[in-house]
Amino acid sequence: MNNERHNIWEEACKQLKGILSGDIYDRWIAVIQCLEISGNHMRLAVANDFYKDWLEENYFPMIRKAVMVVSGKELDISLEVDSTCFDIVKEEHEPEPIIPPIISPLFKKPAHNLNPNYTFDSYVVGAANQFAHAAALAAANSPSRTYNPLFIYGGVGLGKTHLMQAIGNHIAAKKPRAKVCYITCETFLNEYIDALQNNSVAAFRKKYRKIDMLMIDDIQFLDGKARIQEEFFHTFNTLFESHKQIVLTSDRTPSEMAGLAPRLISRFEWGLVTELCKPDVETRTAILRKKAELLNLNIEHGLLDYLAERVSSNIRSLEGALIRVATFMSLTNQKVDVAKVEELLHDLLDKESQAAISVDIIQRTVAEHFDLRQSDILGKKRSKDIAWPRQIAMHLSRTMTTQSFPVIGEAFERNHATILYAHDQVSERAKEDRGLQQTLAILKDKVSKNAAKVLTNA
Ligand code: ADP
Ligand code: MG
Repeated sequence: MNNERHNIWEEACKQLKGILSGDIYDRWIAVIQCLEISGNHMRLAVANDFYKDWLEENYFPMIRKAVMVVSGKELDISLEVDSTCFDIVKEEHEPEPIIPPIISPLFKKPAHNLNPNYTFDSYVVGAANQFAHAAALAAANSPSRTYNPLFIYGGVGLGKTHLMQAIGNHIAAKKPRAKVCYITCETFLNEYIDALQNNSVAAFRKKYRKIDMLMIDDIQFLDGKARIQEEFFHTFNTLFESHKQIVLTSDRTPSEMAGLAPRLISRFEWGLVTELCKPDVETRTAILRKKAELLNLNIEHGLLDYLAERVSSNIRSLEGALIRVATFMSLTNQKVDVAKVEELLHDLLDKESQAAISVDIIQRTVAEHFDLRQSDILGKKRSKDIAWPRQIAMHLSRTMTTQSFPVIGEAFERNHATILYAHDQVSERAKEDRGLQQTLAILKDKVSKNAAKVLTNA
């Protein structure tokens, strides 16, 4: 099964779930099995004719639209009756059985495994990624002659896989005969373990040592796994010595991988180590506009700008937000304004503001509220009009962020016991003191607003 394509159905279900009432979703959508996606054809199945007829009459157009929005193209969808599909009534209180998908013998994955949408053309360049982008383009234009290996690192959903595959797609298009291989580190490891079990390590080695360009995604997976590191070390050397391009991605720098053999760290640093940072709001807006254009979505620019402002943690979440809004619009034909977007995306937006709340913002907000300076909060003065707001700030830092007591302690230049004590004191008093409860509520509100402001200005 091609997971990437199969995920289309899962994603479409998520969209439908967000729009239909829970009952309707469970009754009519959750019972559908996706058997296969092959080329432009998606085969769905249900357990009996009754479901098939009802779905075709009532929900088929909606399903079609949801699939189109998530896949970015119109798929030819068929619904069939397959009695091996589980019966929803019988299984109501049991976990859903997993029906193995049927793989079409006609459907063959291209050998290089690349997603054709991940190209340089669809990659938006901004301040946060321009260096990595330039390096990737150079590696794509003259493989192994510029940066080898090219090591791209950065946080989740910031475009590492996209950029890496853009190199692969570029080379595959220019030199169709080149043996380009993209693989996640996890799959690489699993193949190696299989090879060990089946006594086929020699074949495994041969496979990876005779290719022209090797891209391994999420190489941090090697961290702490000595044996596969050893194997990879030799593959790396063979390819490198025969002037083959190697591209690696990771969520951290080579030297931040504590469990990586020093000789691998040094190899990874031989070429170029380049970072993908969080994009600024202009780049996020440009990315959204591009995605909307690629997906043929008709969404006002003002709304896209709003999404780009509010969702800043990573590009994957940003895309998720866009798709959710687009699905809603397309399924309901309702006009969407900012208030509606806030309602549709409230969980995501809450998470965004939550992530932006920091001890620093709390200290500043509390200081401002009590007419103090942040340095007073951090300082050593023990007078009550300073010490009490300070304790409140410590308490809020504990309740409004996910930071541990020691980390909060550092931010207040105190030890963790002081924070713990302050937290207990304030919690205890708030149980009885209505005035304090109100103050805390007001402060929480102000902190959230200030965090949202930081997001919008980011
Ligand atoms: P990572 O591998 O760093 O977790 P991905 O490469 O999977 O991130 O990117 C997540 C999503 O964001 C993908 O759909 C990708 O196309 C999109 N994306 C990331 N960066 C950009 C960019 N600069 N321009 C356009 N789309 C981007
Ligand atoms: Mg990735």
